[in-house]
Amino acid sequence: MIIYHSVTKVYPPRTVAVRDVSFQVEPGEFVSLIGKSGAGKTTLLKLLLGEEKPTKGQVFFDNQDVHQLGSGNLSALRRNIGAVFQEYRLLDAKTVYENISYIMEVMGVQEKIIERDVREVLNLVNLGDKAEQFPSQLSGGERQRVAIARALIHRPQVIIADEPTGNLDPYHTKDIIRLLVKINELSTTVFLATHNKDTIDRLGKRVITLEDGVVIRDEQRGKFVI
Ligand code: ADP
Repeated sequence: MIIYHSVTKVYPPRTVAVRDVSFQVEPGEFVSLIGKSGAGKTTLLKLLLGEEKPTKGQVFFDNQDVHQLGSGNLSALRRNIGAVFQEYRLLDAKTVYENISYIMEVMGVQEKIIERDVREVLNLVNLGDKAEQFPSQLSGGERQRVAIARALIHRPQVIIADEPTGNLDPYHTKDIIRLLVKINELSTTVFLATHNKDTIDRLGKRVITLEDGVVIRDEQRGKFVI
């Protein structure tokens, strides 16, 4: 489903962020990408979203070379990949409900369908009772759950999460990881990047370790693949 094929990314003039990276993620997997700050995690996620171009190699999503897509197909791909970031990226002047509904409104979706889908994702992230609150009235963990609900609204095949627990305390970190596991069990692929190994240590899921832009380990439930 996701394939990185000998991918190298050099930021001018000579920062090699990712070097000859190859791995693939199958539908339904929960994959954690770990490595210190600067290891290249965000770059790999941006390459998948078509936000950065590889210097060498290719990135495929559902057999399509992401970097050969025209802008219409790239938008479709991005709707198929829900993205969640460390800093939530919510609109402060909109309610929880509006933070999720506005994307569908812009797309011209019927009001009845918007209402049904927004309620459904809010219930999934356990925020059904917070729809009319503003982000400033929520805890960090709740804000991140809103961001996850927003990422789910197009029913993407994949959720990518870039340090989603970076601003959270241990309690809310566990809460968010548990939610990602639940989403994964509902058959969405999860691709999680974090520098915090403790976060994913007990999950028993696949872990890919990056060091200085190179994959140094790929473990399946504690077993080394490379
Ligand atoms: P991580 O997400 O693991 O912290 P990044 O992918 O953000 O790592 O960064 C990998 C390397 O690429 C770092 O050395 C970083 O400074 C560099 N880098 C990231 N983005 C840019 C950019 N837009 N321009 C130049 N260098 C960058």
